[in-house]
Amino acid sequence: MAQRVCLVHYHEIGLKGKNRATFENQLVKNLHRALRGQQVTNIRRVSGHILVTFESGQATVEQAQIIARVPGVARVSLAYLCSLNEQEYCAAAVRALGEAGPFETFKVHARRSATTYELHTLDIHQLVGGVLCEAFPTKKVKMHDPDVTVFVLVVQGSVYVYAASMVGVGGLPVGTAGKVVTLLSSGFDSPVATWMVGRRGAICVPVHFSGRPMTSDSSEWLCQDIVQALAPAGLIGRLYVVPFGERQREISLSVPQGLRIITYRRVMLSVAERIAQLEGAKALVTGESLGQVASQTLENIAAVNEVASMPILRPLIGSDKMEIMRRAEQIGTHDISSQAAEDCCTLFMPRRPETHARLDAVHEAWESFDHETMIEDLVNSIEYVDFDHCPSYKAPKEMKTWHRELAPRS
Ligand code: ATP
Ligand code: MG
Repeated sequence: MAQRVCLVHYHEIGLKGKNRATFENQLVKNLHRALRGQQVTNIRRVSGHILVTFESGQATVEQAQIIARVPGVARVSLAYLCSLNEQEYCAAAVRALGEAGPFETFKVHARRSATTYELHTLDIHQLVGGVLCEAFPTKKVKMHDPDVTVFVLVVQGSVYVYAASMVGVGGLPVGTAGKVVTLLSSGFDSPVATWMVGRRGAICVPVHFSGRPMTSDSSEWLCQDIVQALAPAGLIGRLYVVPFGERQREISLSVPQGLRIITYRRVMLSVAERIAQLEGAKALVTGESLGQVASQTLENIAAVNEVASMPILRPLIGSDKMEIMRRAEQIGTHDISSQAAEDCCTLFMPRRPETHARLDAVHEAWESFDHETMIEDLVNSIEYVDFDHCPSYKAPKEMKTWHRELAPRS
């Protein structure tokens, strides 16, 4: 029986000119990590695709599903890997079409790549098409927009045959777009925002501000669960946790109610930017969406932006909550985020937050406490947990010695 392999298709990488090899190599590396424990024998480039083979010789739907969640993958096909023997690849075409689900019309699409094989694409269309017409006498050949296309790809001494393929997450391989620090709460939005920039190729370093010691540490565990849920995408190597409860209490004592959230956010962004500098990250990311809550008006966004000199990316700024929730379901973070946890933001919440903060009032509040010392103290109390999901993540050396490590959940 012909071997079953996964043939990985990517489109955007193809557009990147000279960078193509870098992108393909990164995708190969990321696929190796995602498929750990799956008895992979080989992952290599084959004529504009990536080929994944397994010890069993029989790639499974589950393995294709793992591949489909890796950024950079447009589609995955469970293909039959055949020799140039005509009988063998025609039989594979019959099987592939039989497995493609209900259909009425079909066509064959052959492609030859760097091969000395004597049959040309038209010959292959006729040969395979003829066999398929015999095997499926009630079905019709349709050249334009058929229900199923049977692909026959001839590359050197091999023929790959497939009909159905699974849609991948698309985007670009993680590690090809630099590093970002993302502000991660255990809510619905920020895990989705993190995943979105990761899907565009960025290595993500989440930072969570916990209400500890004024609240329990449950939001920290939820954030770890979120990182675990995002593991298949391979975008996170480390989670930072900043105990913020004590400092929030200090802020709440000196800042007028309406400006507290903005002030908390300014401190959070300042600390996140310091982490980004240590990490060599080039931007900060939040899960804000315009007008969703009081702190997300244009005035308040401007009042918070002031403290950072790095770009702040807000991938969800134009998304509706329903779209965000749907995406959270797809990426596996929805059910974790729906477990309400007290985090730093539910602590010392004002009853009526300012929706259109005036900058002079924000500045006055900012000067009413020693924010520089507070930011410095918070940076010195950072904790972290490491994850081995992201093969391209490199931890900054300084952090290895001077921060207490949280025990990862067993
Ligand atoms: P989310 O669903 O991500 O919690 P939200 O709709 O609750 O967002 P806010 O509470 O205003 O909105 O938070 C806006 C953004 O600020 C979040 O998306 C996140 O990026 C950041 N943020 C909020 N709370 C925290 C926290 N405890 N730790 C780290 N970042 C946070
Ligand atoms: Mg929130």
